[in-house]
Amino acid sequence: MPSVPSVLFVDQSGQLGGAEFALLQLAGSCTARSEVLLLSDGPFRARLEAHGARVQVINDARVAGIARQASGLNCLRVVPGILRQVRAIAAHARTFDVLFLNTQKALVLGALGKLLHRKPVIWYQHDILTREHFGRVQLSVIKWLVRFAVDHVVANSQASKRSLIALTGIAADSVPVIYNGIDADAFKRIDGSDMAALRRQLGLPEHAWLAGLFGRLAPWKGQHIALEAMARLPGVHLVLVGAPLFGEDAYAQRLHEQAEALGVADRVHFAGFQDDVPAWMKAMDVVLHTSTEPEPFGRVIVEGMAAARPVIAAAAGGVTEIVRHQRNGWLVKPGDVAALADAIGALRTDPAMAQRLADQALVDAQTEFSVDQYLQRMMQAIGRAAR
Ligand code: UDP
Repeated sequence: MPSVPSVLFVDQSGQLGGAEFALLQLAGSCTARSEVLLLSDGPFRARLEAHGARVQVINDARVAGIARQASGLNCLRVVPGILRQVRAIAAHARTFDVLFLNTQKALVLGALGKLLHRKPVIWYQHDILTREHFGRVQLSVIKWLVRFAVDHVVANSQASKRSLIALTGIAADSVPVIYNGIDADAFKRIDGSDMAALRRQLGLPEHAWLAGLFGRLAPWKGQHIALEAMARLPGVHLVLVGAPLFGEDAYAQRLHEQAEALGVADRVHFAGFQDDVPAWMKAMDVVLHTSTEPEPFGRVIVEGMAAARPVIAAAAGGVTEIVRHQRNGWLVKPGDVAALADAIGALRTDPAMAQRLADQALVDAQTEFSVDQYLQRMMQAIGRAAR
C-alpha cells in the first residue's frame, strides 16, 4: 500500500459547521488520492472544491431530514432511503483504502455498510454523546456500530471521548483525542491597528465597546443569554455573527423579539453568517462563548484566542480543556447571566488585564491548536487505520 492512503471522507452536511471546517482542512491537505462524499448539498461543497477537493453529493431528502432526537418509528419510515445511501457509500468506499466518517449520519450510513465495503472505518467524533444532544435510538445505534463496525475512533476532546467511553465501554486507550487546528496566520493577516477603519469596513459602530458572539443561531448556543447580559451592561454592544443553519429560524426570530423587549435592540447587531471570521473577531473588544449545554470543542473559542482577543467562555465540556480561568481567558458557569455580565464588565474596566489574557491566549492557540499538529496527528491516525 502506498505511504499516503487514499481516503473517502463522508460528511452529512452541506452547511459550514465546526465539523465541516475541520474536514475542510483535512480533505484539502490530501486532495491527490482522496474524495469527499456529502449527504446534502450546500456552501460546504464550494468551499471544499476551492481547496482542491473532489466532491460528490448523494442526497436523499428524507434521510437528511431525520432529526437527532427522531423516534424509532420515524427512522423505520426512511429505511429504503437509508439502505440506498448505505449501498451508495459502500460502492464508493470500495475504491479507497480508508473510509473516514465525519458526522453522526455519516457514521451510521458508512458503518452499516461495513460488510459490503470491508474497508477500515475511522470516525472523527465531534459530539458529546448524551441525552441532552441525542435521542435514545441514536445513542443505541452509535453504541453498537462503534463496538462492531468502526475500527478506529478519534475524539475531538477529552469531554467527547469520556461520553463515548461511558456509552460504549470501549477501551479508553484505543481512542486518541485530536483537537481541531486553527489557522493563526489567517488572523495575523488582518490588520487590527486601525480599529475604526476595520469596523467601518464591516459596517460596525467605530467607537462602541463590542462583544462578539460567533456561531450558528441555536438555542443551546445561548445567544439569548448574551442578550440578557446586554440589558445589565449599558453602553456595551453585542455583535451576533452566524445564522440558523439547521432550521432554527424560530429561535432567530425570538432573538430579535427578545432584543426589542429588553430595550437593547439598538446595541445588538445581527451580522448573519460571515466568511471572514478573522476580520470580524479582530473588530471585537471581547469574544463570548455562551453555550448552555457542554460544548464538545468550540472552534470559536480558539479562534477568539488566535485573534488575540480576551475570550469569556461557558465552562463545560471541551471548553475547560482550552480555557484556563484568568490565565488565557475567563470561564463562567453556563447559562449564568449575572456571571457573564460581571465578566464582561471586569474585562471592560481593566484593559490591561484583558490584554494580558489575550496575549497568553494567542500563545496557547498557536502552540496547542495549530493546523500542522492537527493534520499530522490526523494523518497518523488515518495511516494506522489503513494498515
Ligand atoms: N463560523 C463562520 N461564520 C459565521 C459563524 C461561524 O465561519 O458566521 C465558523 C466559526 O468560525 C467556527 C465554526 O463556524 O469555525 C463553528 O465551529 P464551533 O466548533 O464553534 O461550533 P459547531 O458548529 O461545531 O457547533
